[in-house]
Amino acid sequence: MVSTGSTSGGGQGPLGLPMAVPVDGLPAAVTIYEVGPRDGLQNEKAVVPVDVKAEFVVRLLAAGMPLVEATSFVHPQWVPQLADAEELMQVLGAAGRRCPVLVPNERGLDRALDLGLEHVAVFGSATETFASKNLNRTYDEQFAMFEPTVRRARAAGADVRGYLSMCFGDPWEGAVEIDRVVQAGKRLLDMGASQLSLGDTIGVGTPGHVKALVAAFEEAGIGPARLALHFHDTYGQALANVYAGLEAGVTTFDASAGGLGGCPYAKSATGNLATEDLVWMLDGLGIDHGADLAALVDASTWMAGHLGRPSPSAVVRALGTGV
Ligand code: MG
Repeated sequence: MVSTGSTSGGGQGPLGLPMAVPVDGLPAAVTIYEVGPRDGLQNEKAVVPVDVKAEFVVRLLAAGMPLVEATSFVHPQWVPQLADAEELMQVLGAAGRRCPVLVPNERGLDRALDLGLEHVAVFGSATETFASKNLNRTYDEQFAMFEPTVRRARAAGADVRGYLSMCFGDPWEGAVEIDRVVQAGKRLLDMGASQLSLGDTIGVGTPGHVKALVAAFEEAGIGPARLALHFHDTYGQALANVYAGLEAGVTTFDASAGGLGGCPYAKSATGNLATEDLVWMLDGLGIDHGADLAALVDASTWMAGHLGRPSPSAVVRALGTGV
């Protein structure tokens, strides 16, 4: 959906939109998987009040985002920013039931299932070092932790997404072999994950690498319909990488409203691909995504006000009200 209108705050005139010029061979429609409330806010220094988080999620849903990952049921000791996971989902009520949540293990799954949630995600690493640093598990131990989590989630009727981080490079191990990523991803899918999100956690990937990785999955019998791509803009490559993914037939892309969050190990302040920047490109390509750009910019500008600093999204800065 292409939207018109103006951002709240007024006085800016009509919202700018790109001219839609489609390119043959790209998907007609894509799904944007919104990660701002979880991946974004978990990396904020400040703890955002639960009512602000809930309004952020509601605004993103109202902006047409079909999937808004709301929070993580990780132990509060590890991510104090998301210690209010139960409270947030209770505040959201019925609106939150269609929101995916992260569950690191069976205990997290129990918390999500107790609330009647139906979409969960597990978070694995393609590399040994990040499995150790992020999950306190060896590479193989992480799969042993996920297996009962995924199996029990599926038995309870929940859908499971598998995340894989460090798919394009690792800050400790350097280059990550494509075959290794395919092997790790296959293990998550074989367990019962319906979708695999390939994360460029430190933002080092480039378009040829994206195409080679998607092609390697296809050779292993995993087509682009089962993949999602999760890019970080640390080195300015995120949109180029999305375009490569579109050319390779991928139709799900993760993005974070306002460009919130990122990887704490990346040196640059820039992190997650901003949803608004993605939407601008998709609108320009005439690719349907269901989101209302003006409403997204409003939501991100509003959240930037709560966080006390401007959004890193180029599109929010260009279209927003200067918060
Ligand atoms: Mg991310």
